[in-house]
Amino acid sequence: MSTDASHSNHDLFERAQRVIPGGVNSPVRAFRAVGGTPRFIARGSGPYLYDAEGRRYIDYVGSWGPLILGHAHPAVLDAVQRALVDGLSFGAPTERETELAEAIIACVPHVEQLRLVNSGTEAAMSAIRLARGVTGRNGIVKFEGCYHGHADALLVAAGSGLATFGHPTSAGVPEEVVKHTLVLEYNNVAQLEEAFALHAPKLACAIVEPIAGNMNFVRASVPFMRRLFELCRAHGVLLVLDEVMTGFRVALGGAQTLYAKAIPGFAPDISVYGKVIGGGMPLAAFGASRDVMRRLAPLGPVYQAGTLSGNPIATACGLATLREVARPGFHDALAARTRSLVDGLLGAARDAGIPMAGDCEGGMFGFFFAPALPSHYTQVMAGDAKRFNAFFHAMLERGVHFAPALYEAGFVSSAHSACEIDATVTAACEALRAI
Ligand code: PMP
Repeated sequence: MSTDASHSNHDLFERAQRVIPGGVNSPVRAFRAVGGTPRFIARGSGPYLYDAEGRRYIDYVGSWGPLILGHAHPAVLDAVQRALVDGLSFGAPTERETELAEAIIACVPHVEQLRLVNSGTEAAMSAIRLARGVTGRNGIVKFEGCYHGHADALLVAAGSGLATFGHPTSAGVPEEVVKHTLVLEYNNVAQLEEAFALHAPKLACAIVEPIAGNMNFVRASVPFMRRLFELCRAHGVLLVLDEVMTGFRVALGGAQTLYAKAIPGFAPDISVYGKVIGGGMPLAAFGASRDVMRRLAPLGPVYQAGTLSGNPIATACGLATLREVARPGFHDALAARTRSLVDGLLGAARDAGIPMAGDCEGGMFGFFFAPALPSHYTQVMAGDAKRFNAFFHAMLERGVHFAPALYEAGFVSSAHSACEIDATVTAACEALRAI
């Protein structure tokens, strides 16, 4: 077999497309939304990515969220290297799994037990099964524009009317599988009330992204989250908070700690984690009270398993990451840096006379080419994709790597210093004038 590697992004992409559908192992990496050739990454260091052509980029994707300490953080690499020499996988319990579970539980208020899995998809899918097993009901509520991984029951678009359950958004998902999934508009309290009035006795759970990073950056409003929580409690419907993106990212305890400040007694029934807790290795988790978690196998009837679950290298990586993230002041510093980025981008847009809105929480941010941020999916889809795409490429040319689609949140790491933020804002001033 030829190992003749070319080092241009273009050639690498051509070669990849021969053996991998679209040349990528996750669709958004293919740059379909923005056009052009994806950068093939050779390595990462701190806030920087280096592509196969040796070009350097300030990275605001951070592997789509996990790399809250930046690339190749020394403490994380050290933990992984020390774990490696003891073997890659045992398929038997290790002390490190318990340590990681303890470390996560110590930071989040409503989880007494959790199970480690390999991806956010698996965690969300298992949370839904658990909710169904606990309640003995089949229905689930999800919100348009929220993404919870690619499990069949969650790949659903809204039905034509409120009384209509979902239709698959992907070929290969049978109608029968999604007929229990009710899709509602994010931040629409009236629709939520109506849906619960019609369907509550059939509902096992409602799953929601508290800050929807899969439609740019859209916060669940406090009245919406409060009503969702109240309705779930009143009807015995489990509230599943998907903190795969927000967990340990927007605050140490995740978005739930932010909502708990505004909503007395606020508590999700099941919490879903991924990304940061694995620090860049395949690791995710779902957790709940002991009473809910005891329904899982081997204690209870809800089956869930994994050959590589709780992998010793992934848990070492996650633990080392969480140790850094839990240091006092970590999120304050990260939030301040993220805020300075968003303020800088908004200032650059103002100077260029281009409407832009932006928001951030902790190390997560979004910016949108419109006078105001969207509050639900239809508004996101009406965004100025042409302008975003031009801006994306103008920034990439200037060595700044934003997510290659306007409906994705961005991430700042603790490795981003004022120097990278300033360079980004300077590039944005030029790019916005150029487009
Ligand atoms: N939930 C949310 C909120 C996510 O953002 C994602 C992935 N971006 C997932 C679940 C799925 O996680 P994974 O890609 O690890 O399967």
